[in-house]
Parts: sequence; C-alpha cells; structure tokens
Amino acid sequence: MPDYIQLLPDAIANQIAAGEVVQRPASALKELLENAVDAGATQIQVVVKDAGKQLIQVIDNGKGMSPTDARMSFERHATSKISKAEDLFAIHTMGFRGEALASIASVAKVELKTKRDEDAVGTFIVIEGSNTITQEATACPTGTSITVKNLFFNIPARRNFLKSNPVELRHIIDEFTRAALANPNIGFELFHNDDLLHHLKPADFAFRICDLFDDKKPENLLLFEEQTTIINASGFIGKPQIAKKTRGEQFIFVNNRFIKDAYLNHAIVSGFENIIAKDQYPFYCINIEIDPSKIDVNIHPTKTEVKFEDERNIYQILRAVTRKVLGENFETPTLDNSHD
Ligand code: ADP
Ligand code: MG
Repeated sequence: MPDYIQLLPDAIANQIAAGEVVQRPASALKELLENAVDAGATQIQVVVKDAGKQLIQVIDNGKGMSPTDARMSFERHATSKISKAEDLFAIHTMGFRGEALASIASVAKVELKTKRDEDAVGTFIVIEGSNTITQEATACPTGTSITVKNLFFNIPARRNFLKSNPVELRHIIDEFTRAALANPNIGFELFHNDDLLHHLKPADFAFRICDLFDDKKPENLLLFEEQTTIINASGFIGKPQIAKKTRGEQFIFVNNRFIKDAYLNHAIVSGFENIIAKDQYPFYCINIEIDPSKIDVNIHPTKTEVKFEDERNIYQILRAVTRKVLGENFETPTLDNSHD
C-alpha cells in the first residue's frame, strides 16, 4: 500500500484551529480586543451588528502595522509577541499563539485597515475564507480597524449552531466588559446596531466598575489590596448587601487577563461565608499580579485558563484578604478565623 498521510493545506489547518479559538462572535471579539490592547491603544471602538453574526468591527488607535506585517498577521503561527520557547513563561501580552487572525480569516470575510504613525499611507486587506482578495494602499488614521463579516459563512453547521441574538449579544457584552475591566486606562465604546451601549472614558478601577455596571456605586465597593511575595492583589469586592442570587459578576484577572478559575473563585466566595446567604453570589473584581514565570497561560486555546505553580497559597491569600476586608467593615461575630 502506498503512503497515505498528507499535510493539510493551511486553509483547513486554520479552520481546525478556528474550531477551538472561534466558537461564536464573542470569541472573535475577544481576540480582536486583545490585539488592540497589545498594540498599545488608548481608545478602542467596537461596532457590532446582528449580535456579531453580521459584523464585528474593532477600531483602535494603537501602533498599527507595516504593509508586510499586515499581510503576515493572517499567517498561521505568525506573531510579533514571542520568538522562542522560553518566552512562553515571560508573557506580558494578551496574545502569543499567533493563530487568532488566521483562524478568524478562515471562517469569515475579514477587512483590515492599518497604518503606523511613521507611514504616509496605510494598508487595506480583504481576506475571505483564507483567500486574499485585495491588498492595496489606503488612506486611514494611525491604528488598526478590523472588520469581521458573516462569521462561519463557509461552515453552515457552525453558523446554524449560533444561539439567538439576545444570547450572542450577552456573550459579546461579557467579553467587552472583561476587556474594559482589565484596562480601565483605555477608553472604550460599544455600538450594537447603531445603539451606543457603552461609552467608557479612561478612568480608575472603581470608576470603571461603576461606569460599566449601572447598579454599582463607589460606596458599595470595598478596596481589596494585598502585597505578598507570591502575588500582588488589587481590586474591589462588593459589600454583602449588593450580593445577588445570580452568578455573573465575579471577575478574576491574572496580569490583566480575565480567567475562569473555579478554585480561586471559591477562595473569595468562601471568604463571604456566614456574611451572605449560601444562595447568593458576591460581586468582585480582582487583579492578581504575578511573575509570569510562575504561571502557564498556554494550557487552553482561548487563554482563559491559567495554571499556577503556587495555587494553594494564592487560594489562602485571596480568602484571607477577603475575610480581612469584610472583618474591617462589618460586624462578623460568627466569622471563623481559624484558617487565616
Ligand atoms: P497574536 O496576538 O497571538 O500574536 P494574532 O493572530 O492575534 O496573534 O495577531 C498576529 C499579529 O498581528 C500580532 O502578533 C500583531 O503583531 C499583529 N496585530 C494583530 N492585530 C493588531 C492590531 N490591532 N494592531 C497592531 N498589530 C496587530
Ligand atoms: Mg492576538
């Protein structure tokens, strides 16, 4: 029998990667927002139509790309953020896998306009299902605008699998909220079908929280701050009276990256033990700063999970600080401090 293993063409390899990285419009938005943040933008505008099914556009005033980099950015495993294996443990950027743009462009029609400050003209590229349709010079401001149209137009099974517009829009707003919380110093705008849903000016962390959540007031937030040899934690926890019966307003960031971590979430929630009812969820928004060599961010394609070298100690710290902050502010006679 002849040999029968073959290398897959790039377009198919990209679609396979897209299967993991781009599950829905909100996942594409997440990647585009990360790129804008990594590009040093101070203003990021998001325009979404039809809950992202028709259009997702992210416009930033970051550093932009040269014509060659603009073309390269859509290649698989093409990144400006790491260049050697050791860099994976010294990550200071949101991206590093170099697959987001290639993946998105394999399952959508993507238009890119980008210009560096030092260049007189910018670059306009159109890619449709991994095929480059246009690359030409264009007049545009410094920064980058990426438009993703008709996501999954070439994968009907995926497109049909998308949920209703209200559900997909909820995911979009969640990703926008996470990025806005992680970067209070950046101005953000979110438009949906021409409605301005959020207009956030650069602000401090507390102001950004109150700006994003209509029901949050500074007087309902307690400062959460601790510096240790393992981590520096900073942020806010909501007073017990603003705890809710539904989940969804619990945010943990690691080096400004939103992460999902049931174990560390439990650390904070358990700090509220005996202070809020068991069926209530406290509000919190906490950033953990940690030496990047002590974590592995490369354990999940969407980079929303992180492996910690010292997870148990971090758990203890988060729980203890939560209890301390609550203890300073509330009468907590039944609080069990034996584990602190
Ligand atoms: P990664 O972010 O993991 O490097 P991406 O596929 O998301 O991979 O992007 C590839 C490269 O394209 C980035 O490394 C970056 O150099 C460039 N790039 C993408 N988006 C932008 C942007 N908004 N502004 C400037 N450069 C960008
Ligand atoms: Mg990226």
